[in-house]
Amino acid sequence: MTARVLVVDDVPPNVKLLEAKLTSEYFDVLTAYSGPEALDIISREHPDIILLDVMMPGMDGFEVCKRIKADPTTAHIPVVMVTALDQPSDRVAGLEAGADDFLTKPVQDLAMFARVRSLVRLKVMMDELRNRKTTGASLGWDEEEGVAFDVTAPIDGSILIVDEQERVFERIAKALEGVGQLEFIPGGDDAAEKAREKNFDLIIVSLTMRDTDGLRVCSKLRSFEETRHVPILVMVDDGNTKLLVRALEMGVNDYVVRPVDKLEFLARVKTQLKRKRYADKLWENFHLSMQLATTDAVTGLYNRHYLTSHLDTRMQTAQSQGKALSVLMMDIDHFKHVNDTYGHAAGDLVLKEFASRIGRNIRGVDLAARYGGEEFVVMMPETPTDWATMIGDRLRQEMSDNPFDVGLAEGPITVTVSIGVATSKDGQTPGQLINEADKALYEAKAGGRNKVVIAS
Ligand code: GH3
Ligand code: MG
Ligand code: MG
Repeated sequence: MTARVLVVDDVPPNVKLLEAKLTSEYFDVLTAYSGPEALDIISREHPDIILLDVMMPGMDGFEVCKRIKADPTTAHIPVVMVTALDQPSDRVAGLEAGADDFLTKPVQDLAMFARVRSLVRLKVMMDELRNRKTTGASLGWDEEEGVAFDVTAPIDGSILIVDEQERVFERIAKALEGVGQLEFIPGGDDAAEKAREKNFDLIIVSLTMRDTDGLRVCSKLRSFEETRHVPILVMVDDGNTKLLVRALEMGVNDYVVRPVDKLEFLARVKTQLKRKRYADKLWENFHLSMQLATTDAVTGLYNRHYLTSHLDTRMQTAQSQGKALSVLMMDIDHFKHVNDTYGHAAGDLVLKEFASRIGRNIRGVDLAARYGGEEFVVMMPETPTDWATMIGDRLRQEMSDNPFDVGLAEGPITVTVSIGVATSKDGQTPGQLINEADKALYEAKAGGRNKVVIAS
């Protein structure tokens, strides 16, 4: 995995050193020698990750970081603060400014590469979400304005701690007071299995347990569907770089080194919870906009736009596999009369009931859509004309034989439907197929309604 890394430091030899190390590992390196220059490059080049020196004249690293995180177009870019070893308070200040991580000078190669890769992996996921969001927007979906990575919002989440020592849990619980609900699993080989039973926002795993293999717990957490995307933070002993690198390669999101600095620990937990919330929010927006864009509000069926784009794909598949695909074009008979007699609200209820009857009478692979006001289309893959006609007639009867009870004092309303059936031919476009079904529907209407007619 390669990525574009921006290195920011006011001391040229520091920049050159990191640049050389990263280039040797095939990263693409951009460089900046001051805060303002860095911000300028970031807004133009959108790097995948930023290594940011804290001590710089003029605008320091904290300020640069705050500005990156306050701008919705750059907030998702991971920032790693590079701090001096003897300034532990800088780490905390950096994380509070929204930094995703920090490295201490002199920078250790293995930890740096593992850290950079781990953060880039996360960014790839975020970019994917952001791209989908943009696609949604370009299709004209109603979208909330960009989801900012809010560094100031209060943090809350459910956190699981896996450690064999209960007193460690108690100490952690104290350090994390107020950031969420904590649960504890005292190690055991089934720790990961237990973790998948609940929706945690963060899982903290000790890698220094005596009877439980912490790495194994992490690898299971990464493989289970339910916990695959839950951030994992591991606790390791100072100096155990090998174990740490393996954990990071496994996809663990972050780590703390024992003995754990309380404030640093708190800041890292907060960062992970924020990141999780950011990802959740994007997913939520994405699903919501998908739903709005593809379904009809009255009936809950797919809308015309969705049907047309989906039909295109399905017809291509059907044609390439030499299989039949049929559509039913359905139009409720004299629906205007229903509205005129019982009112528009009753008409809406009839449409709803009509749609749900369609849903109950077709297969899972079929797709039903509201095509227009009181027009519906059912698309049926791998269905020849005679089957489709049978299903059409079953639907026709289902409607006409069972009057619609929409709670009117006058009693249930008799509703009938006319249906046109068409089956796709080689080289036909979705528009042509729909057209044929529409013509057959017209014949069904002309022939007296409450009928199924096959396209000639
Ligand atoms: P035909 O048998 O020829 O199809 O007659 P029809 O009355 O069903 O056809 P027409 O196209 O003349 O009228 C359709 C009616 O459907 C008119 C319109 O007000 C009504 N309609 C369309 N959408 C909705 C809706 O969402 N709710 C309700 N209640 N009525 C709707
Ligand atoms: Mg009608
Ligand atoms: Mg009509």
